[in-house]
Amino acid sequence: MSEKFNVIESFGSQVFNDAVMRERLPKHIYQSLKKTMNEGTELEKSIADVVASAMKDWAVEKGATHYTHWFQPMTGITAEKHDSFIAPSGDGKALMDFSGKELTKGEPDASSFPSGGLRATFEARGYTAWDPTSYAFVKDGTLYIPTAFCSYSGAVLDKKTPLLRSMEAIDKQALRILRLFGNASVTRVMTTVGAEQEYFLVDRDLFKQRRDLMLTGRTLFGAKAPKGQEMDDHYFGHIKPRVASYMIELDQELWKLGIYSKTKHNEVAPSQHEMAPIFETTNIATDHNQLTMEIMRSVAQRYDFALLLHEKPFAGVNGSGKHNNWSISTNDGQNLLDPGKSPQENAQFLLFLSAVIKAVDEYAPLLRVSVASAGNDHRLGANEAPPAIVSMFIGEELENILKAIEVDEVGEKAEKQVLKLGVSALPKFSKDSTDRNRTSPFAFTGNKFEFRMLGSSLNIAGPNIVLNTIIAEELREFADRLEQAEDFQNELHNIVKETYRDHKRIIFNGNNYSDEWVKEAEKRGLPNLTSTVDALPSFIEPKNVEVFVKNHVFSETEIHSRYEILLDNYAKIINIEALTMLDMAKKQLLPAVIEYTRMVCDALAAKKCLDLGLDLSVEEELAKKLSCLEVQFVSALNKLEKDVITAKGVCDVLECAQYYHDPVFADMQALRAIADELETMVGEEYWPIPTYSDLLY
Ligand code: ADP
Ligand code: MG
Repeated sequence: MSEKFNVIESFGSQVFNDAVMRERLPKHIYQSLKKTMNEGTELEKSIADVVASAMKDWAVEKGATHYTHWFQPMTGITAEKHDSFIAPSGDGKALMDFSGKELTKGEPDASSFPSGGLRATFEARGYTAWDPTSYAFVKDGTLYIPTAFCSYSGAVLDKKTPLLRSMEAIDKQALRILRLFGNASVTRVMTTVGAEQEYFLVDRDLFKQRRDLMLTGRTLFGAKAPKGQEMDDHYFGHIKPRVASYMIELDQELWKLGIYSKTKHNEVAPSQHEMAPIFETTNIATDHNQLTMEIMRSVAQRYDFALLLHEKPFAGVNGSGKHNNWSISTNDGQNLLDPGKSPQENAQFLLFLSAVIKAVDEYAPLLRVSVASAGNDHRLGANEAPPAIVSMFIGEELENILKAIEVDEVGEKAEKQVLKLGVSALPKFSKDSTDRNRTSPFAFTGNKFEFRMLGSSLNIAGPNIVLNTIIAEELREFADRLEQAEDFQNELHNIVKETYRDHKRIIFNGNNYSDEWVKEAEKRGLPNLTSTVDALPSFIEPKNVEVFVKNHVFSETEIHSRYEILLDNYAKIINIEALTMLDMAKKQLLPAVIEYTRMVCDALAAKKCLDLGLDLSVEEELAKKLSCLEVQFVSALNKLEKDVITAKGVCDVLECAQYYHDPVFADMQALRAIADELETMVGEEYWPIPTYSDLLY
């Protein structure tokens, strides 16, 4: 760690950002690049060449020798293939070269990335295309160029392309609405995201002694530590020196890459922490969150920590999530989810709010699909995370206003007039009243929504693709109605009124963690899709396919391919976890139990041998209990082994995933329960892997 770190000077020092572009590019080149960035126009080849050359010179000064097209295939992590800038100079020497074509287009072999049948293996080629709206940066001696990834047939193979398309969809529809409100100056509407990232740090040496952590990112066995999180003494608690140093260096690395890391603190579970950045445009926030997770991992190594981004590394203590704070803003800096002050602003806000309410109710299963993963199945519906039921919190004040509009009720004030949108002003909401429901999966927090169902390792592109698309769709419907209306104010009033009347079932301001809510939600007809395999089939329901197709975000084939990839991914994860469990059970845990039992039996025999009439009951009981559990353990192990073999042979991708959920995943839980009980009985020096106490404290 450097002694003196100048934040202002270092911030963004590794980024080819606007300031660098303005300084290094001829004015007309800079302007046409900006035009491409702002309006999505194509970049001419001659201009791309100049940009590439300037970018290369800058990167070489920063120590780069290579460049890479950085992309986000459907594996959930980022991918990169490095090429050096090197080119023959003709005299046996080399020069550093980088053309506009190399900047704007790459051709990685696409055959090993999941495509869900979109790309026949003989058509292995895919290409990457520069996303000029996300800045290039230098890391580890390489110039990183954020790109989108497609197959040659044009089918999308990544997460960035549909995200950009969904941003276009909402831009288009929101602009229509703004025009209707007489807002002529705005030329672009963007969604913004701030992704709060939770993570665990564990000691690297201990981590290496746990095959489950190494291979699956979570503990597959482990009895609860005597102390868990019940004292609530970790949340916002004092940060241990080694963790504090880690956090300092993490901030510095993130800042250099232009990531606005803002808040850091200890989380609820022991060894759990959080980092929250300042929000940015959604595609940049997405790139930055992927980068944040990578940097977190590499900095952890320098402090002999292992970073755990899994949603549930430890049973019995909180898992990790990622809160996706989402809003819509304009290129002139207005936040469209800010209630505003004037009646006009209030009315516009209520219309956008209505679009969100309608979208979340009509497409709740899609939001659920967007956060579905094997890892997140451990969280949603468990104690600390929002349930698998999608609902939204808007706060009492705001709901009272909608209620009043629904019944055309006289406003509270003495004026005795009907609350007429666009005419009378709304009362000012206090931020506090909208900020405090921590149990809601989708909460309005004053000027943005916080979607809290995301798991910590998720690429945030997925949920934001869904949010942008479904809200664009509702805005389109509203814009259609308003454009044709004879009386704008009247139609506006009707839309807000009808939306609340028809969709208020999605609003729930109470405790989402309670059992009563599960029953109440069922009465309201809200879906409760408790696992990934329950949720995923919603993805391909006709209504959900239509919303993507209509808004040009996914084609029908692309949806089906993604659906298959997600199911296949689920099956693969459970398969790896099951095999790791079997491996540990057979080679580590069972031998330990046998060894310990032998020691107990030896002790028993020794006592007996003395023939002094000593009480043998303790050793006898222990030996019996151990050997009884041992038998159960082996039979659970055999059942798991048999079911995994059967699962592998199931051809249909949905049935296969379902089989991995039940019986395979159920078998794993049964095996674990027995192992965890054995762990509490077997002597400490016999137990072959670090315990929860070792790992968490
Ligand atoms: P807290 O939750 O600690 O009160 P904030 O509500 O200010 O803090 O912010 C939480 C997260 O939401 C941060 O990442 C912040 O940048 C983000 N955020 C704030 N405003 C917006 C917005 N308009 N759009 C998207 N994210 C936002
Ligand atoms: Mg939060």
